[in-house]
Amino acid sequence: MILAQLPRFHLSILAKPSFALSSSHFNFLNPKSSVEVARTLFSFTSKSNLATVEPIPLSVSDSSDLDDAPFEISLDKLFIPPETDISGEDSTSLTARILKGSNIVLSKYARDAQVVQADYVKSSVKTEDCPADGLPEFALVGRSNVGKSSLLNSLVRRKRLALTSKKPGKTQCINHFRINDKWYLVDLPGYGYASAPHELKQDWNKFTKDYFLNRSTLVSVFLLVDASIPVKQIDLEYASWLGQNQVPMTLIFTKCDKRKKKKNGGKKPEENIKEFQDLIQGFFETTPPWIMTSSVTNQGRDEILLHMAQLRNYWLKH
Ligand code: GDP
Repeated sequence: MILAQLPRFHLSILAKPSFALSSSHFNFLNPKSSVEVARTLFSFTSKSNLATVEPIPLSVSDSSDLDDAPFEISLDKLFIPPETDISGEDSTSLTARILKGSNIVLSKYARDAQVVQADYVKSSVKTEDCPADGLPEFALVGRSNVGKSSLLNSLVRRKRLALTSKKPGKTQCINHFRINDKWYLVDLPGYGYASAPHELKQDWNKFTKDYFLNRSTLVSVFLLVDASIPVKQIDLEYASWLGQNQVPMTLIFTKCDKRKKKKNGGKKPEENIKEFQDLIQGFFETTPPWIMTSSVTNQGRDEILLHMAQLRNYWLKH
C-alpha cells in the first residue's frame, strides 16, 4: 500500500493570512484527545474560503528566539492523508488541523497515539528473519550521528531502549521494538560512517534496500535528517532512492533546537529544511510528510506519534 501515491486535494495560492499555527489545543497524551481530534475533523461544514488565505504561516519552533518568525507553507506542499477532505474548511480550521512544526494534516485515523509499552524483540540480518506476526511497522533510518537513538528513546520515553541496537553485532541489524503489543518501531543501521570500508557501505545499502522493497508490513520509512547542518549529498541520495522506488517516506528533521551557529554554515534549521525539500521535490509526485524534532526539547515527539497512528490505523483498515 503506497500512501504517497493516493489522490490528494490541492488548492491554489493567493494571499497571506495573518494568523499562526497552533496545535496546542490537542492534548496528545490524553486518551480522549484522539476522539476529540476525530470529532473536530468532521465538524466543518462551511464552504471553503481557502482560495483567499494562502500560503499558511506555520509556527514551527518552540524556541523564543526573536529571529523565529513563523514560516509559510503553501497548500500544495501539505501532506493530506488519504480519505481526508479539507475542501470544507477555512484557513483557521485548517491551520488547527496541521501538526505543529510539520506539513501534516490530521485525519480521522489519528487516534491511539500513546506509547504505554515498548519491548525489544529481536535483531535480524535478513528481511525474511523479521517478525512474522503481520503487525504494522515504521523504520527509522539516517546517517550515523543524526540522533536516531535519541529520537527512539524519546518516542518510547525510555532513556536507554535504543542502546540495544548499539550493542556490538547489532548495529548492522534490523532491530525490532514492539510497541503496545500492536506495532513495531524498527531501528535500521545508520549509513555514511566516514571510516567504513567501501564494500561494507555497499553491503548496508543492499541489506536495507531489500528490507525497504520486500517488507510487506512496512507502513512508512522515517528518514532522519540533521537540520542543524547544511544539506548532505548522502541524505539527498537516500531520499531520492526512496522516492524513485515509491517507498512511503516521512522526513524527520532532527536537532531543531540547535540555532544557527557559524560552524553550521550560519543557517537556521528552517533554512536547511527548505533547501533539502527543494532539492528532493523532483523525486516525489507529491510532497512527502515532514516533521521538525528535537530530542533535547521533545519538540515533534507527540506529532510523530500522531502521524504514525494515523498512517497505521489507515493501513490496518485497508
Ligand atoms: P545516532 O548515531 O543517530 O543514534 O545518534 P545519537 O542519538 O547517538 O546522537 C548523536 C549525538 O547527537 C549525541 O551527542 C546526541 O546527544 C546528539 N543529539 C541527538 N539528538 C539531538 C537533538 O535533538 N538536539 C541536540 N542538540 N543534540 C542531539
